Amino acid sequence: MYNITVIPGDGIGPDVTEATLKVLEATGVPLHWQTAEMGHGAWERHGNPVPPETVEAMRKADASLKGPCTTARGAPYRSANVTFRLELDLFACVRPCKAYPGVRTPFPGTDLVVIRESTEDRSGGGQFPAGSPQAQAIIDAVRATAGKTIPSQAALSVAICTEAGTTRLARFAFDYARANGRRKVTVGVKGAGSNHVDILFWRTCEAVGKDYHDIEFEYEAIDALCLQLVRQPLHYDVLLLPGGYGDLLSDLCAGLVGGLGMAGGSNYGAGLAVFEAAHGSAPKYTGQNKVNPMALILSGAFMLRHLGEAQAADRVEAAVAAQVAEGRCLTYDVAPTAEAIQGTREVADELVKRVRGS
Ligand code: NAD
Repeated sequence: MYNITVIPGDGIGPDVTEATLKVLEATGVPLHWQTAEMGHGAWERHGNPVPPETVEAMRKADASLKGPCTTARGAPYRSANVTFRLELDLFACVRPCKAYPGVRTPFPGTDLVVIRESTEDRSGGGQFPAGSPQAQAIIDAVRATAGKTIPSQAALSVAICTEAGTTRLARFAFDYARANGRRKVTVGVKGAGSNHVDILFWRTCEAVGKDYHDIEFEYEAIDALCLQLVRQPLHYDVLLLPGGYGDLLSDLCAGLVGGLGMAGGSNYGAGLAVFEAAHGSAPKYTGQNKVNPMALILSGAFMLRHLGEAQAADRVEAAVAAQVAEGRCLTYDVAPTAEAIQGTREVADELVKRVRGS
């Protein structure tokens, strides 16, 4: 029996989580769910978007399955998504983006993986509001030590990169590439001028890459990479990125393969793994039985693979692929015709039949 901590989250989270549990249960793998709270709702109920009991339950579980969590505009708390990754030291966020045949995309055959760092960059360094004592202290220190004048009313972000943090991420990415039959890792940052944070990230990844002779290493300036991704995405295989750029490019890459409803994901740290879709809580669709559950269902398949249940994972992925290819019972975002549109529950029920029959 595998003990799984399940976090339904906010907005569309409960709808896609319910759908995902049904499909995973249909595999027959013995999964024991323990539900925990996180997100804006948890903040409203407990005054904390990431309650300590939830972090503890995630730490103890064999794996966690997480729905999206809302960060309300102007909320007086740090994003639950940033917080749980920092608290559990989940440094690697993995977002495979594969264009399943049948999905509308100008780039059939796209199949790449975005791996991004989650504990450094601006998440690790911190954000300081304009006029705060912390911002003023940093402004004073920069003037005193570097002779640079930052306007006193500036809001500040501090981005960090360490060799140790990047080395463990790069090793993870090259090991992932090797284990998954991938041939190339592309690092995307601004490597010119005095972008010290980006240059350290790039050079550290390059150094790690020298230990992996079977995997090609490539550097591309992040702006050029954005251009090339929407011109020739088939050139890419594994993208290795710091947190901020990775956040942007994982949504861009989801757009290349049918949208956020098709992009699953996972977060890894030492001995810990949390599986979640790339998308957010889409609050306007809360409780409407409307959105695509496939992104979280695919994340669930990644979880089964992580648990060593490769055959069950294959069955779930094959069911998704077959349903998309058939184009008959799909949510609004990927259905090829108006007649094919079904709700979240109906799409999951059809997947359950396919998984049971496989
Ligand atoms: P979002 O991903 O929630 O939604 C953007 C749009 O994408 C939606 O309006 C919808 O049209 C579409 N979409 C998203 N998921 C879909 C699905 N499963 N099926 C079909 N269409 C889907 O992004 P947002 O509106 O920028 O963010 C809403 C909230 O989610 C914010 O509070 C944000 O902080 C949070 N968020 C959470 C996570 C996370 O929990 N990991 C990730 C991103 C955003």
